[in-house]
Amino acid sequence: MYDAIVVGARCAGSPTAMLLARSGHRVLLVDRANFPSDTLSTHFMTPDGVKLLGEWGLLDRVLATGCPQLHGTRRTLQGMALPADPSDPLTIAPRRTVLDKILVDAAREAGAEVREGTSAAALIVEDGVVQGIRAHTGDQACEERARVVIGADGRQSFVARQVGAAEYNVVQGTTAGYYAYFADMAHGSYAELYLGGGQAMFVFPTNDGEACLGVEFQAGRFKEFRADIEGNMQAAFATVPTLGERTANARRTSRIMGLSPHESFYRKPFGPGWALVGDAGYYRDPLLGQGINDALRDAGAIAGALHEVFTGGRQWGPAMEAYEQQRNAATGMLYNLTALLCKDLDPTPEVLQMLAAGPPATAPAG
Ligand SMILES: Cc1cc2nc3c(=O)[nH]c(=O)nc-3n(C[C@H](O)[C@H](O)[C@H](O)COP(=O)(O)OP(=O)(O)OC[C@H]3O[C@@H](n4cnc5c(N)ncnc54)[C@H](O)[C@@H]3O)c2cc1C
Repeated sequence: MYDAIVVGARCAGSPTAMLLARSGHRVLLVDRANFPSDTLSTHFMTPDGVKLLGEWGLLDRVLATGCPQLHGTRRTLQGMALPADPSDPLTIAPRRTVLDKILVDAAREAGAEVREGTSAAALIVEDGVVQGIRAHTGDQACEERARVVIGADGRQSFVARQVGAAEYNVVQGTTAGYYAYFADMAHGSYAELYLGGGQAMFVFPTNDGEACLGVEFQAGRFKEFRADIEGNMQAAFATVPTLGERTANARRTSRIMGLSPHESFYRKPFGPGWALVGDAGYYRDPLLGQGINDALRDAGAIAGALHEVFTGGRQWGPAMEAYEQQRNAATGMLYNLTALLCKDLDPTPEVLQMLAAGPPATAPAG
């Protein structure tokens, strides 16, 4: 019997398992992936997320992989360029193959039992309370029990579906996008964001001397864009001074990855014997690159709440309600701003003003 079983071992699941294990709790962490493993995601991290990696003793490991140290974002908003500020706090954009592997290893080192290549196939529910999971590693089936099963299993969360977690503040998906990796791409020691005229583009310098480049556009263009993805990406880059030339001189090293329009939502993140963290409990359009940071922060919050429950300091209900409120307060403002921006990717002067200031260090409630 474990204190917690965590399903999903990326930015939300591994830190949750690591922090619970560091507090002395018995944790099983499962993921159907084997790490290092990539996932459909670019990987710009905000200063808040970088700070958490530092506090957990993991930032040096990420930097040791050669992941470039970035300072600030050069924003070009409706054609107006705002230079990056070299005195801005450190940001990074480590490949997910790099970051997620470091997080899984840290959970294992902290004492969590980690089973890679293991799929959770069903929840064990008795008298309306989740008691554990049925899982399989290849042909090998197993049944494991815990005081709580935590779904850190992403947007399409299996745990959320099994328990019927209620969704709220649902926003229709209005954007789609594509991204790829490029070598020999000239760039500075900062991220680049271009927004306006119905599209957004970004450049994130990353591991192995490569840069991750992407374009996001309105959902209505998805079919037309898909007909010539490479040509349409280049055409989008060419609308921005220097980006077109720089990408024309760069060499694409990956296939082009795509994201179709998806709803944004909050899910009720707890119920009898279960809880949700990361994208499983809260999904927003990736436009502002907040998901990794949100997942790391919420891992800290849920691990703190569960530690209180496991040690008898607080009852399950109040502890988990506080976790939900903390999550919603930290994300509400950027959730609403993202939805506003994604409507037409053509921000008004008021919205531009908010963006020019950059995301707040800790977002207030919306
Ligand atoms: C195109 C795109 C670009 C993005 N760009 C950025 C960005 O630049 N910056 C940023 O901060 N965020 C970005 N995001 C968001 C970011 O990727 C997510 O917020 C983040 O990955 C959430 O982490 P997570 O651990 O909650 O879930 P995930 O990363 O989705 O991990 C879930 C894990 O659960 C496992 N799993 C699922 N079901 C099961 C099961 N039944 N059994 C076992 N394992 C299971 C999966 O294998 C997976 O490893 C982007 C997202 C997309 C789609």
